[in-house]
Amino acid sequence: MNDMNQLLQPVSMLPGVGARRVTMLARLGLATWFDLLTFFPRDYENWLSLTPLSELEHQQTAVFRATVAQKPVLSRKGRLNILQTVLQDDAYSIKAVWFNQPWHAQRLVPGQTFVFRGRVKRKGRLFSVENPSFEPDEHLPEKQRLRPVYPLTQGLRQSFIRQLTENLIPRVISIVPEPLPARIRREYHLCAAAFAYSRIHHPADWEEADICRQRLAFEELFLFQAGIYLLRQSARDSRKAYRAVISESRRHILQACINQLPFTLTHAQQQAWQTIHHDLGSERPMNRLLQGDVGSGKTVVAALAMLHCALAGMQAVLMAPTAVLARQHHQTLARLLAGSGFEVELLTGATKKTDRNKLLQSLEEGGLQLLVGTHALIEDRVRFKCLALAITDEQHRFGVRQRIRLTENTSGETENKAQSESTQLVPHVLVMSATPIPRTLALMLYGDLDISVIDQLPEGRKPISTYTARQKDRPRIDALIRKTIDAGHQVYVVCPMIEESAESDLESAENVWQRISAQMPDSHEAGLLHGRMKPSEKDKVMDRFLSGKCAVLVSTTVIEVGVDNPNAVLMIIENAERFGLAQLHQLRGRIGRGEQASLCVLISEADDELARSRLTAVCRSRDGFELAEKDLQLRGPGDFFGTRQHGLPPLRVANLYQDQDLIQKSRKALNSLLREDPDLMHAENRIIRQTLNLRYGDVFAHIGI
Ligand code: ADP
Ligand code: MG
Repeated sequence: MNDMNQLLQPVSMLPGVGARRVTMLARLGLATWFDLLTFFPRDYENWLSLTPLSELEHQQTAVFRATVAQKPVLSRKGRLNILQTVLQDDAYSIKAVWFNQPWHAQRLVPGQTFVFRGRVKRKGRLFSVENPSFEPDEHLPEKQRLRPVYPLTQGLRQSFIRQLTENLIPRVISIVPEPLPARIRREYHLCAAAFAYSRIHHPADWEEADICRQRLAFEELFLFQAGIYLLRQSARDSRKAYRAVISESRRHILQACINQLPFTLTHAQQQAWQTIHHDLGSERPMNRLLQGDVGSGKTVVAALAMLHCALAGMQAVLMAPTAVLARQHHQTLARLLAGSGFEVELLTGATKKTDRNKLLQSLEEGGLQLLVGTHALIEDRVRFKCLALAITDEQHRFGVRQRIRLTENTSGETENKAQSESTQLVPHVLVMSATPIPRTLALMLYGDLDISVIDQLPEGRKPISTYTARQKDRPRIDALIRKTIDAGHQVYVVCPMIEESAESDLESAENVWQRISAQMPDSHEAGLLHGRMKPSEKDKVMDRFLSGKCAVLVSTTVIEVGVDNPNAVLMIIENAERFGLAQLHQLRGRIGRGEQASLCVLISEADDELARSRLTAVCRSRDGFELAEKDLQLRGPGDFFGTRQHGLPPLRVANLYQDQDLIQKSRKALNSLLREDPDLMHAENRIIRQTLNLRYGDVFAHIGI
């Protein structure tokens, strides 16, 4: 019925696309016409301004008009065949060379004029250009003077994709959907969809390219947020949450627990706790992000929230991304809640079968109220009697899907009683994260998630000094390790995972460990921790480190999140250039937790300017937000703020960092629309849902936000 669906035709329906190319296009995620239409250029080749030969510069990528001055000569050098000629304009000449492109010889007829584009080199007074592309002068219409450069992988040529989009656009221009209402386009000065989709591939000039990009990024952000909104809306329906309210007679227990803490809560912690406390007592499901830099003390806030639920006679669960962290949380919670009379249990992949069965039964019957665990918690067999609160720690380590699963494993009891969906109670949700996401981005990714920020570190934190070092400084670093352990303190040595290959990851950490072990005095031991060890082995090593028996812990980034050992005051990071800045910051957050001043050494042999300036940034700043922004500035947005890790579809034009302004505007536009049409069901707004479908299929539906 809808023309728009023609956009879902396979790419094989375009001329020149055979089976082999279908496969290659598929590798880029290009299966349909629409995929191709939204495969936007990452840049443009500039053929706009011509440089006279007399003004060419060494190493410049130049576009120039010139005439072929002599018959091209073809020669051979081993397997290379070389085509050479001389090009000239009124005043100057330049040598042109093509390697392994003998076919150009036919076109390069002496006396013919072309526009050339290529990188110019200069040797003495002689200029040359290698492998220039060229077009007959009169055949280069105005609109083709900015040529799209697509983000290609090997095997496909730019010219092929250019040809495809040139073929495609006239066929689809009349059926490109326009999901943005005219009113919104006017208000935000956005061009029409058909114009944007076609001209982004072949803009007349930079200004036009920019106008198209703005419009498309706005549309993308608008639709993306609409998708998240609709999903939440359908997931939320009319369900209510458990109201966790503590009876008068038990209230003092919570206060007593706060009073018994070995420290006083910071103002920021108190505020976060007050808000959460209030949310828990409401039947409106809490959906809150608790954000706080490493070491800001999120765990104790989680502990109080869990105790609150237990005192209200309900259950609470905390999910951590690694077994090491889950174990540690379990210990911390058990310690913090020791006087409260509630047991805290631990469930990980390593939990023994008999223990596990007992635990699961107790959970289902409601005898067990507080649980900490890993992904093991989202297995189907885990059922709660009345789960009032589900917390995920270091939430960036989980996909959205996993987070949702945790909240779905609610009461088996409700089902037994065959209560209808709408009366089934859902748990409150708290996600904790040290990832410093600017607020606009958080709003974008988490939609209507409420946000609490712990923007204050506990007092008395000793500074962490951070320095860079090189291999040649080894002896000094070894001496530093020795001095630290002699003083009774502990040391982290962190090795990167080298690429995806687990083999080399294992080896590098292991090599370092062997080297360090060999130098350890007899009285001390070094432990090794990496992702491929059995959970029970990891636990053993971690235990020895936390209890002080092991003085040096050599590890991969498994310790990145959460681990808390105040006696560790020195961290050595190997191949530091391989880490993201935010990751280095998180790693460094493992030290500086006790009374001692701490030291972090970033070892790197990298010499390029970018790597050095990134490491310098870490040495200079202890502010996670600042570093994250710096990282983005220096590296461009990687996966750090990327949507992929959140289980959401990737953005194709918009950039979560650079387009913060557009995020805000599109959000505002969407909200104004939703005020009039909360379900986006009005006839004129149907197109939004349809475009969402076209663009994302049922991706959003599967995420189940
Ligand atoms: P994160 O927010 O990174 O998860 P943690 O919850 O692990 O931080 O807390 C870091 C350390 O700070 C822990 O050793 C914890 O006991 C301690 N801590 C938490 N709150 C306070 C406070 N208000 N005053 C002093 N120390 C605190
Ligand atoms: Mg933590």
